Parts: sequence; structure tokens; C-alpha cells
Amino acid sequence: MSPRGATWYATHSEIGRVRDHNEDAVLAEPPLFVVADGLGGHEAGEVASSLAVATLRDHAPRRPDAKALARAVRAANREVIRAAREGIGRQGMGTTMTAAIVEGSRIAIAHVGDSRAYLLRDGTIRRLTEDHSMVADMVRRGTITEEESRYHPNRSVITRALGTDANMVADTYEVDAEPGDILLLASDGLTGMVEDPDIAAIVARTSDDLQVAAKALAEAANAAGGHDNISVVLARISGTPGKNSVAPAKKSASLPSGRTVLAVFGWLLAFALIVAGIGYATYRYAYSQAYLTAENGVIVAYRGVPGSFAGITLSWPLETTDIQVSELPMATGARIQETLRVGSAEEALALIEQYRSEVQTDTPLNPPVVPDPRSVPNQP
Ligand code: MG
Repeated sequence: MSPRGATWYATHSEIGRVRDHNEDAVLAEPPLFVVADGLGGHEAGEVASSLAVATLRDHAPRRPDAKALARAVRAANREVIRAAREGIGRQGMGTTMTAAIVEGSRIAIAHVGDSRAYLLRDGTIRRLTEDHSMVADMVRRGTITEEESRYHPNRSVITRALGTDANMVADTYEVDAEPGDILLLASDGLTGMVEDPDIAAIVARTSDDLQVAAKALAEAANAAGGHDNISVVLARISGTPGKNSVAPAKKSASLPSGRTVLAVFGWLLAFALIVAGIGYATYRYAYSQAYLTAENGVIVAYRGVPGSFAGITLSWPLETTDIQVSELPMATGARIQETLRVGSAEEALALIEQYRSEVQTDTPLNPPVVPDPRSVPNQP
């Protein structure tokens, strides 16, 4: 099959019905397919998303190698951070990124943020990626339902993005698809407006021509309000039939995640406590440390280190604030959402004071985590 000029893939990206410009970026250059949803407002979002996509394109592998693709996403992340530091775009700008390499029936995905990858087959739909968002965390914890997450006031707060943290890691997935399956990458302008079963039905009805399908998805998002930029990439999977039906997406961390590092640290710490008998030193160390995290949407400070290690908790409540994480600048909010460790309780309290004054003055240099003009549609 000749990719160029053929109709095995299609893209569509548009402004929607509410926003005044399009901060999304899409790319379809087989074998690479990408959707990026820029954040930061005042046109910085589109700088971040287009810069990230261009950098990814330069670094992406030509084979479905998820780890290599994740390294390319990290290169894009560094580029967005560097650009903001050098005055291109704005400080605090960022972007989501969902990237796929397709070869035959093999799909490799690297993913950060709340854009999504799906696999569609005969009217069924399977979500391949997990959102990095506050509401997705709440759904996973069982605090709210999937349906409630669609109308939650913090539904646009994302917990991981390119442009905020030099040490950011992308989730990676490797998928064995079947010939005829359709890969869909989409920004939340589609998935926030149109529910998964409706997406599946629209694609099933229109997939003879993927360009028609892409437009039909955007039309459905606009019919539901078009509250955000809508971006869609569709690619039909060819290749030899796999032995299995749809294998579950294998999630593999491309690099040790913060949580993995913490878990390893925890076990080492427990081992040290028991075997070496340096419990007191460990306790002293933990007590000298502090961290900020988000609980029920507000900043909470603890003395100690986060997590529990082999059943031992080494943290003590310091202060529960009334500062809403959603009101903080994007980089700060994301960092606190994932737990921000600092060297002392004094440092933690000083940071709280700083955030409090930032929230109160609401300086324009610190755009909100995600500028979100979407209103809650017709809440009863
Ligand atoms: Mg969006």
C-alpha cells in the first residue's frame, strides 16, 4: 500500500464554536500520527503544540518502538521548556501529546495529557490511553463516576503535560491490531463533547471514507456545543492478521516513573530500617523533609516523605490550606498534583504563602492550568 495519496488515513482540526483560535496541532506523516492540544492561552498554546509536534517529527523512530517514541516526546518536552525560557510563546505554556507509530498491524503509542488514542472495530471502541487529568484520577479512585467527570468543574485540569517538567515521562503502549481496525487520536474537544459509543457509531457509519468520518466526528462535537478545539486523526490498520483478537494494550513505563522510583526507594528504606538498624536516622531524615500535595482540590502540606514504605508511614500533617490547585499556574498545579517534595517544613510553608499571594493577585504572567471557557452544558 502506498501511504501518500492513499485514503488509509485522514486528519481534521478546527477551532470549534466557542474558542477564538485553534491551539491544537495534528500530524499525519506515516508511520507517525500525532495529536497535541496546546495550553497557556493568548496564542501560547498553539506555539507549544506546533513546536512539540515539529520536534517530535524530527526525533520520532520509523518503527513501532514505543520507548524510542517516548524519548522523542521527551525531546519535544525539553524544546517547549527551552522555548518558553527564551521568550518564545509564554512561561507556563504547555501541550498534551498523543503520538502513534503504525506499521502493519503494530501500533506503538507514547502519551501525555488528556488527548486520547482509541481502537475502533465494527462499531466497538476501546480506549488505549489513560488520561493524565484530575478527574481521571478521581474516576480511578472511585470518587466520581465517568459520567460525573464530564461535567466536573475541574475536568480540564491535567496532571501531566509537555512544557512543565524537564523530568516528565510519557506513558507508552504497544498494541496488536487487526486489519481493518481504525486507530483514532483525538483532542478533548471531541472526547469531552461526544461519548465513546457515539464516536464508535459515527465511525462505523462513515468509515468507507476516513476523511468523511473525521469531519462527521467534528460535526458531532460542534452539534454538542463545540466548546473546545476539535482535532481528529484516523488511520486504518492493514498488515497481516494477528493470532489473537484485540489484545489488551500493554502499558509499559518507558522510563522509571516517579512512583516506581518512590516504591523502590520505599523498599530500600524498609530494608535499611530492619537490617541495618538505622531506623532513627531514617526517621530524622524523613522528619527534616516536607511535601505539598493536592487533597480534595486544595493544597495540603506534610512534614516527612510521601507514601508508606512496607506499611510504615513517615509523614505528619503540617497545614491544610484553602488554596485551590486549579487556580494555580499550570506548571505549579501539575507539580503539586503529582506531589512536590521540598527540603524542609519551613520551605513548604513559604511556598504556600507564595502560592496564596499568586492566587490572590492573579498575575497575568501565570496563566491558569488550563484556560477553559467551556461552560457546563445545560446542567439541570
Ligand atoms: Mg482541548
